[in-house]
Amino acid sequence: MKIDVQTLSRTPGEVLPVKLEIQASELDLSADYRESLQDIAFDGSISCIEHGVFRLTGTLTVVRIGNCDRCLAPARQNLKIEIDEQFRRSAGLSDDEPEEYYGYVGHMINIDQAIRDNLLLSMPGQLLCRESCLGFCPVCGRDLNEDPCQCQAEPAAGSPFAKLSKLLQDDEDVLRT
Ligand SMILES: [Zn+2]
Ligand SMILES: [Zn+2]
Repeated sequence: MKIDVQTLSRTPGEVLPVKLEIQASELDLSADYRESLQDIAFDGSISCIEHGVFRLTGTLTVVRIGNCDRCLAPARQNLKIEIDEQFRRSAGLSDDEPEEYYGYVGHMINIDQAIRDNLLLSMPGQLLCRESCLGFCPVCGRDLNEDPCQCQAEPAAGSPFAKLSKLLQDDEDVLRT
C-alpha cells in the first residue's frame, strides 16, 4: 500500500489522515498467516516531521482466526497494534544511517513493510480460544475444558517429585515381593 505524500507540503506540522483496509495477501506473509489473518485495517495519520521525513502513527486492527493451540477448538483473536514509524527518503542514505527509519523513493511511501513488521512483532505466540483454556490432558488426552481428569494430580515426568514417587513405588514393589 502506497501513500502519496506529495500533497503533504513537506513542511513540518502537516498531517494527512490515513485509513486503509489491507489484504493479508498484499503483505509478504507466510501461507499460514495469509489464511489466518483477516480484516486488517489501519486508522491513523502520516505527518511531515522534518523536510523529507514522515511519521506514520495509528492503530492497526487485525482479526486472527484458526484453531486453539491448546484444545483445537475454533479460535478468534482481535488484535490491536499501535504503530509509530518514520520514513526517510532512501536517496543518499549512508550505511551508518540509523535503522529505525524505513526508506521511500520519490513522493510515494510504501507502508507495507512497516505494517508487516509491526504485525509480526506483536503477534502473540499462541492462538487461544480463551485465555483460561485448559487444553488436553497430556496423559489421557481428554479435553480438560469439558471434563477434568485425575491425571493432573500426578507430577509431570522428569520432575524431582516424579523421581521420588517412582522410588517410593519401587520400594513398595520390593516390600510386596
Ligand atoms: Zn482452547
Ligand atoms: Zn488425564
